Amino acid sequence: MNTVFDGHVVIVGGGVAGLISAHLLLEAGCQVTVIERGDTVGGLARSFQYDGFAFDIGPHRFHTENPNVSAYLDRVIEGDGTMFPRRSEVYFMGKYYRWPLHPKNLLQLPKTLAAKAFVDLGLNNFREYEIDSFEQYVLRQYGPTLYEHFFKGYSQKFLGIDPAMTHPDWAKVGLNRAIIDDKMQMQNLTQLLKTTLTQFNNHEIDFLYPTNGMWQAWHNIAGRVEALGGRIILNTSARLEGGNGRVDRVWAGEEAIDCSTVIWTAPITVATEQLGLKTPNLPYLGMLIYNVCVEGTVPRDYQWCYYGASDLVFSRVSIPKFFSEATVPHANAVGVCCEVTCMEGDERWRHAERMTDWVVDDLVKVGMISSRRQVHDVHVERIKETYPIYHKTYPGELEIARRGLETFPNLHLAGRTGMFWYNNMDHSIENAMQLCKRLLRDAGKAEIEEEHLAAGQVA
Ligand SMILES: Cc1cc2nc3c(=O)[nH]c(=O)nc-3n(C[C@H](O)[C@H](O)[C@H](O)COP(=O)(O)OP(=O)(O)OC[C@H]3O[C@@H](n4cnc5c(N)ncnc54)[C@H](O)[C@@H]3O)c2cc1C
Repeated sequence: MNTVFDGHVVIVGGGVAGLISAHLLLEAGCQVTVIERGDTVGGLARSFQYDGFAFDIGPHRFHTENPNVSAYLDRVIEGDGTMFPRRSEVYFMGKYYRWPLHPKNLLQLPKTLAAKAFVDLGLNNFREYEIDSFEQYVLRQYGPTLYEHFFKGYSQKFLGIDPAMTHPDWAKVGLNRAIIDDKMQMQNLTQLLKTTLTQFNNHEIDFLYPTNGMWQAWHNIAGRVEALGGRIILNTSARLEGGNGRVDRVWAGEEAIDCSTVIWTAPITVATEQLGLKTPNLPYLGMLIYNVCVEGTVPRDYQWCYYGASDLVFSRVSIPKFFSEATVPHANAVGVCCEVTCMEGDERWRHAERMTDWVVDDLVKVGMISSRRQVHDVHVERIKETYPIYHKTYPGELEIARRGLETFPNLHLAGRTGMFWYNNMDHSIENAMQLCKRLLRDAGKAEIEEEHLAAGQVA
């Protein structure tokens, strides 16, 4: 079997996983080409820049418990980043609440609702749940009142499928991800009281953000890739060609690149299709981003806020200025990023520009801007494959796809989109490190550990 040193390594996708794999393998002495469909690197973590404003795709910031990921980030961000505590909120029945939902928020809810939520949490001690869907998971965690009024509508609006038909993994990953720093336990009254009593000891976790926007991290890494002799081909969709148990070459437009190894971070469904395997039912959610350039100030200083109400077009709003002041052209400007989920190619996707007024009107409705006159520009961006949709039977479909692709041993899946994995950037970084470590070990470089990869000590 060919190893990463026996020919070219082709990496499909220049997002977090693809770029970092390229960087680490180049440092180890491999020949690497990255093929990226878009006009820039960064994938889902890329940024958009217009007239001094920088917007990411919704709220993006780094957090990791892994010291190797942390060391790698320190190396490539080169000290040009800011650390800040989280400020996120949820807009519910016309009011703003701190998010993650804090026990004390229950007391601020309308009285009958709060009373019902407390009774639910008490009764949950005696209820049995069969955790086979998002619905059941959240009922167990928060009880029927909060589920009905809070989580059900948001999930349905965001994902577009019935929470009873959504796999519990969506709740396990999504909710835990959303409450990343609070580790809140509210399944029942005992846990609620415990959390309430210990909440004063809660220490806030700081997040890391590159000073000028997320793009800065990917720009630095891409610079390192090219300085090490790596090639990054942009604006080009890759196509796999293979048979008899291996991928022989990868096409970048009209150019055929013979390869020893392929790292695939593009949609898993595209890999199965290109290699003639059965295409699994693994859909990805699309997203429209409305990047609103505002003159003046906004009344709330959250970094991001969830909007679950069905009459509001967006499901989340984020404000890059509260990640870093360097993302706006001057102190009296604010960028407001509004997320609207959809499916690629559907009515919303095709006619996204028509919803611009609706987005702006809803910003006025929720009190984020005082009038349309405050808005001097709205940029609409269509984002493909933002989230893997975890429908109820996705694990079986994923298993079949993985097994099919395993018959091509020189093809390696990586990252969020390539592995159909609802993950965060730190997971894609860790995943790239583990994959590179394995590929280098298979090529005889057994002594390399992740900490050496993180520190660039592999030559
Ligand atoms: C709205 C939103 C908010 C988020 N917030 C955070 C956050 O705060 N913190 C955090 O850690 N993570 C966050 N994430 C998750 C984070 O964006 C991802 O974990 C990370 O970007 C995944 O990187 P990746 O390289 O694994 O995948 P991707 O970014 O999906 O990379 C895949 C790449 O492949 C390219 N591609 C696709 N098809 C082809 C083809 N045929 N040929 C060539 N190239 C192709 C794509 O253009 C893309 O660049 C968020 C995600 C979203 C959507």
